[in-house]
Amino acid sequence: MSLTLKELLDNTRKFPSNREKKSEEIKIYGLEFLRKWSKEKRHHNLLIEALVSSSNRDSNYHTCLAVDGIRLMKERWDRYRIPVEGGQVFSRPFSASKDRILCSCDCRDYTFRFAALNEKHGALYGPEPEHYEQKTNRPPANSLNLPGICKHLVLLADILRDQGVLVD
Ligand SMILES: [Zn+2]
Repeated sequence: MSLTLKELLDNTRKFPSNREKKSEEIKIYGLEFLRKWSKEKRHHNLLIEALVSSSNRDSNYHTCLAVDGIRLMKERWDRYRIPVEGGQVFSRPFSASKDRILCSCDCRDYTFRFAALNEKHGALYGPEPEHYEQKTNRPPANSLNLPGICKHLVLLADILRDQGVLVD
């Protein structure tokens, strides 16, 4: 099973706190495009790594989006125009509604609310989260039982759209 960015964004809007509004308070610092070979699937993923500030700018989060299966070209032409690894190869823009993605962020919202469900839906990038055992009577962290993304990933998606890396 796997998800598109659009599916994750649509789910995210169903949660109480407005992550799109909150993403306006934060800022992206570093943005890197890398290629990552998937041994299991035998194709390249386009890996997008970003450093995103917290709301009070006290700390940064590592936010990461991987497009599952992308063709890389040696030269920049037509659709293949995203410089990967400093321009050694080029990738086409990816689609929010068609391409399958994997994502991660080391903030609390992502780690506790979304990581386990994203893993279940094949949309978690990186290692499986440790099993979280509820120790209090508070409502479950993910009451809707849906995969989704944090405000850092919402902002990253916005920036990628502005840059023409993400389409539709
Ligand atoms: Zn986050």
